Amino acid sequence: MSANERIDHLERLLEVVRGLTTAPDLESFLQTVITEASEMTNSEFASILEHDDHAEEVRFLSMQWIHRELLRSVGVPLDGSAAGWVFRNGQPLIIQDTRIDQRHFKVPDRVSQYETRSLAAVSLMARGEVIGVLASINKKDGVHYNEEDLAILSTLAALAAQAIQNVSLQRKVRATSIELAELERLKTDFIAIASHELRTPLGLILGHATFLRELAGEEYGEQLDMIIRNATKLKTIVENLSNVDNIQNGAARVRNQTVSLTKIVDDVIATFQDEAASRNITLKSEYGQLPFHFDADGVKLSIALSNLVKNALQFTESGGHVTVSVQEDGGYYKVTVTDNGIGIPARDLPRVFERFFQVETHLTRRYGGMGLGLAVAKSMVELHGGRIWAESQEGKGSTFTFLLPAAQSQPSLGSGPFIEQS
Ligand code: ADP
Repeated sequence: MSANERIDHLERLLEVVRGLTTAPDLESFLQTVITEASEMTNSEFASILEHDDHAEEVRFLSMQWIHRELLRSVGVPLDGSAAGWVFRNGQPLIIQDTRIDQRHFKVPDRVSQYETRSLAAVSLMARGEVIGVLASINKKDGVHYNEEDLAILSTLAALAAQAIQNVSLQRKVRATSIELAELERLKTDFIAIASHELRTPLGLILGHATFLRELAGEEYGEQLDMIIRNATKLKTIVENLSNVDNIQNGAARVRNQTVSLTKIVDDVIATFQDEAASRNITLKSEYGQLPFHFDADGVKLSIALSNLVKNALQFTESGGHVTVSVQEDGGYYKVTVTDNGIGIPARDLPRVFERFFQVETHLTRRYGGMGLGLAVAKSMVELHGGRIWAESQEGKGSTFTFLLPAAQSQPSLGSGPFIEQS
């Protein structure tokens, strides 16, 4: 091959490489590949065959348009065909005379009324696997196929394989995102249905059990207390579910009143003080003299803070410490809940605010819960234009922090990145 021919080939191959990103679709890119394959190897035509996963054969994926309809339905067996041989062995193949080589499969010739006299074929490889075959047919001017033809075909085959793989990856990504959206929808539906359907019967159980507790005196007191305690736990779960449901369906609204942040903190701490004492955990607050009055939805902030304190106690061993602090920080109120409990593994930290996420799987975990507490807390804080994040070190403890605009005029903090790690 002359130097000029080599330069011409390189330029043509480069143009095909460009086509990888500029071609409008896979079909037109593969058409370019077979046109170049036939022209650069001085052949009558070329075609690409793709492995059919469901049958022991390869099928025509790209071929000359005049043969297209005729060949589309033809399956080429892996045994007894040149393409099958290349596919099975992953090796290039030259057949200079098809009349004396048994590997030539004659059906495509019969169907297209075309005579294949000679061929050169190479495999299409993707991620180390053969996925198809590129073949040039009938070298012109009575010349034989040679190593240079195979080199050209190999380069073109690599590009074709890359394009096919890109499209198949795109399809997989699309299918996975559809599946994810469906799972997300199922989660949303489950939350809506569960919170709706459980609320009334649970209310009735609690109401009647409390009524009976008052009537029954001490005789059945222990059993009724047990029913009330557990029904109350269920009620917390249902409340979390309906909070999430309200946020999902846009029904959650902030009902602002002038509230004192320190009073909210004190009330939440008082609610959990008995539980902390029974587990020998020190639960305390830290703040200066300021009452931190501002306009906010006290109920929603209490829910957010309760969920953080509940977790801090739950994941801290006996003898541990949980501290809630409030500070003013550049126009924002900053609330932190710090514990010296089990901490959160770095790989799980970015996901703790997701609905239903729990660090341990439901089979191995020792702790209760539904994985909704932090999702609820995050939404409640964001409804106020605030921001929440977590810092943690496994085995050392965790700190959950939220910032709230101290005045309505303060810019909202949005829901930007909320994960930090120490
Ligand atoms: P749950 O209601 O199940 O506790 P959350 O959404 O409140 O769900 O928390 C999600 C997960 O984050 C928990 O299951 C737990 O694994 C982890 N987590 C939350 N807070 C803490 C904490 N203070 N210390 C250690 N792990 C925590």
